[in-house]
Amino acid sequence: MRMWMVDPHSMCTKHLSGEHVELHMVAGWLRRGRRVDGWVDTNCLEPLSIARRHAALAREMNRRGWDHRSPLIQPPVAAYQRPEATVDKTAALLELRRRCSACRKLQEMQGERHERGNQELRYNYLSGKKGPPKDEANQENAASNG
Ligand SMILES: [Zn+2]
Ligand SMILES: [Zn+2]
Repeated sequence: MRMWMVDPHSMCTKHLSGEHVELHMVAGWLRRGRRVDGWVDTNCLEPLSIARRHAALAREMNRRGWDHRSPLIQPPVAAYQRPEATVDKTAALLELRRRCSACRKLQEMQGERHERGNQELRYNYLSGKKGPPKDEANQENAASNG
């Protein structure tokens, strides 16, 4: 059982569906009043985020055409079930990268998209234009000449 808590867009099919199944499992576990220290102590569980995380994964699953509609109700979390626990997302991201080349590739694609997006934002901010022109380099030269 592991809540990766990374951006669902950048998870491979195996890890996306795996985390989804495990959320259903751990919700049942919490409802039965079991202890979850083993998962909390190994950065695998954020008990109070189960429903929210399930909704995020289900959204991404639907985007990929799997048609998952049933919501997962947030189970109650008793004091001994570590309601304060959070997943260290940076550590989880690095661990997933290390384990899975498919997830790593998606993360890198995602990173490049973000970088491109940032460049467009910077350009728009600096130029006051709505979008980058077709031939950015030429237009910048023309602007500096004129
Ligand atoms: Zn589900
Ligand atoms: Zn993966």
